Amino acid sequence: MTQTLHPLPFPAPEHDHGPCLEDALGRAQKAFEAKGLKLTPLRQAVFQEIAGSHRAVGAYEVLERLAARGDRLAPISVYRAIDALVEVGLVHRFESRNAFFACHAGHEGRQMVLACEACGRVAEVGSPDVFAGIDKAAHEASFSPRSAVVEVWGLCASCKLAGKTAIATPAAHGRS
Ligand SMILES: [Zn+2]
Ligand SMILES: [Zn+2]
Ligand SMILES: [Zn+2]
Repeated sequence: MTQTLHPLPFPAPEHDHGPCLEDALGRAQKAFEAKGLKLTPLRQAVFQEIAGSHRAVGAYEVLERLAARGDRLAPISVYRAIDALVEVGLVHRFESRNAFFACHAGHEGRQMVLACEACGRVAEVGSPDVFAGIDKAAHEASFSPRSAVVEVWGLCASCKLAGKTAIATPAAHGRS
């Protein structure tokens, strides 16, 4: 069920991101088609900005980047496009920073999110035990869980190897 594009959730920083982006765009096309929806030029442009890296970006940053390319858009249309992308599962909300990141591997079910505090990259890993544990604890509290977000902060292998430390403070970027 879980198919990963990369052997590791965090690809090497110097990897060729072209294939990641191409693959993401291909999945975007299919995901919208499957729902009988359209990957409109606006949705595609917004997705391309978000999927252009493995970092999480704020909605406002997406808006600014599009403006820098000459696409002056109303914030509401960009926010709606992001909502549509989140809805079909191509983009995920990164709750800790009120930002968004592209899903770089098709998956079903819940994923734990790993966020590197040095390079700002975000990756997902399947972690059924974590969510089973959450559900169990919730049920034991006579609580019916609907959703849970697990975001783990730390250092990716490349940053750790390079001796980097956390430079990105929660307020530093990702605001929208
Ligand atoms: Zn990549
Ligand atoms: Zn995902
Ligand atoms: Zn890193």
